[in-house]
Amino acid sequence: MVKIVDAPEGVEGHGFFATSLDKVIGMARANSLWPLPFATSCCGIEFMATMGSNYDLGRFGSERLSFSPRQADLLMVMGTIAKKMGPVLKQVYDQMAEPKWVIAVGACASSGGIFDTYSVLQGIDKIIPVDVYVPGCPPRPEQIIEGVMKIQELAKHESLRRRNSDEYKKMLESYNIETI
Ligand code: SF4
Repeated sequence: MVKIVDAPEGVEGHGFFATSLDKVIGMARANSLWPLPFATSCCGIEFMATMGSNYDLGRFGSERLSFSPRQADLLMVMGTIAKKMGPVLKQVYDQMAEPKWVIAVGACASSGGIFDTYSVLQGIDKIIPVDVYVPGCPPRPEQIIEGVMKIQELAKHESLRRRNSDEYKKMLESYNIETI
């Protein structure tokens, strides 16, 4: 069964419907998030289950995975990130076009998890901004879906000007990420 998403808030009458541009764009963005799975270890396996027919991330318009950062707007980091890998992850983030969102999936991506050691990054938010953290070691597919739904809410309600705001630019600068 094909489920049509609800129309955004607006004014409706006989033969017409009016709403604002940012609501329409928010609806489109939220229902067509293209994930880039940056999977390095066991949490990646849970993501594979999330993509499978039982959980089917395609129900949320996110079945089109991108392994090129330039055609993705949702970076999903799943697994242990060694410090050596940090610059690679940052480069992938840099290459994604705005607007973009990031989910740290599982304890390792969120905080280093059980690997409190010299070689492991203690959370990807040390190098890139994170929008949603999914707890668990590993998280179940339902939790990963919940994380994607949280991103959908952010995308739906994000102001069109947010990415140009001083606040957003300052946040990126705090990560030494160049703004255009
Ligand atoms: S959080 Fe647990 S399951 Fe996920 S990558 Fe780390 S050790 Fe593996």
